[in-house]
Amino acid sequence: MNWLQIAQERKEELLSELQQLIQIESVLDENNATPDMPFGQGPLDALHFMLNKGESAGMRVKNIDHMAGHIEMGEGQELLGILCHVDVVPVGDGWTYPPFEGRIVDGKLFGRGAIDDKGPTIAAWLAMKMVKDSGIKLDKRVRMIIGTDEESGFRCVNRYFEKEEMPTIGFAPDADFPLINAEKGIAHLIFSQKNKAAADETLLSFTAGKRINMVPDSAEAKLVSVSEDGATNFQRFLQENETEGSLTKAQDHYIIAIKGKSAHAMEPEKGVNAAVLLAQFLTTELTGNGLTFVQFIADVFGKDHFGTALTLNYRDEMSGETTLNPGIIKFDANGGTIEVSMRYAVTYSFEEKITAAQQVLAQADFTLDVASDSAPHYIPEEDELVQTLVAVYQKYTNDFSQVLSTGGGTYARVLNKGVAFGMLFPGEADVAHQKDEFVDVENLITAAAIYAEAIVKLASK
Ligand SMILES: [Zn+2]
Repeated sequence: MNWLQIAQERKEELLSELQQLIQIESVLDENNATPDMPFGQGPLDALHFMLNKGESAGMRVKNIDHMAGHIEMGEGQELLGILCHVDVVPVGDGWTYPPFEGRIVDGKLFGRGAIDDKGPTIAAWLAMKMVKDSGIKLDKRVRMIIGTDEESGFRCVNRYFEKEEMPTIGFAPDADFPLINAEKGIAHLIFSQKNKAAADETLLSFTAGKRINMVPDSAEAKLVSVSEDGATNFQRFLQENETEGSLTKAQDHYIIAIKGKSAHAMEPEKGVNAAVLLAQFLTTELTGNGLTFVQFIADVFGKDHFGTALTLNYRDEMSGETTLNPGIIKFDANGGTIEVSMRYAVTYSFEEKITAAQQVLAQADFTLDVASDSAPHYIPEEDELVQTLVAVYQKYTNDFSQVLSTGGGTYARVLNKGVAFGMLFPGEADVAHQKDEFVDVENLITAAAIYAEAIVKLASK
């Protein structure tokens, strides 16, 4: 079968369906959630859209508690899963084109969700239809599983797999080509200061960050007083660190604010953590528990992203470094806390390493607790699933890049045996979650061809 040619012939259908899906504003709306609409109207509409398409194409569809659903074709004992999501992150500012339109300019289709994950979803959906229409006989059932809460905690697929069958093998078109076979563990750590703030504390408050999976791009502290050279030192500090900030006097206190640069917690080195900068500056301004707090941040997070000071550092060949992102930092009259998103290597001894860090902290003014932990996910490169998918990818691209690892989490990790497979091609800019998110139209067609051949290869033996 010449899948590329068939996909090319069905380009209008592909683009029109993607535009329709992008036009559904499927952002989580917790305020209007009901049992019949657990993530709000948009995510539910997007799920219905896909299930209606499946039904019209003569496939079996099922809605699981309005959180997730599936479209299934073929017969057989075993099941191939294709895991996609149709929810999107909020729009943000600064778009050149309307984020919920799907406008095509110079071979690019713009819109929120274009690459994450509506474009890949529609490419995989076209692939299913192409395989069905080809009449090729499959020995496995093929099921597209559609989630509506991927961006905020996986409640959709968690519920889905409480009730539905686990695929024998599967892939998630929600990341990069050639393929991601290693996903780091993701833990939420909380460091809490043991001593509460004293009554005569210079530091009144310290706040930075709203979500642990982002590098905070601003931080602010309120101080009772600043030193004589405080203002001059602060200006020099800003210059040395090539950033902006302000020191202002309010009625009975001073406010020191500093800017950093946002990035995803899985790549903290790509950002500049404003909280860490502010803490570093304040080590020369404070005393008491406030000083202990900022000194801890400077010592543990100011020197590297690997947690070396607490012996949490560890890297391995298949997944790289373990990284720590202090994402929510707070200090007030009740004391100080630092919430961290940790992305740890596949072969990390999690319990042992946490216990060791707790022992390092025994003499310090901080405790360490694990608020949540999602284990790493790894399928060996030699595995037939990986080999088959990589071979299909190479056939259509002539690209022999290595398979990849990620500090992010995809739906692959909820599968017993699954990997992330496309559809961002090597060298392409990753515009997921950013303004002017787009997908390249030619790449959509290539991806649809790759997915079609992958379905046939994986489901017919
Ligand atoms: Zn995604």
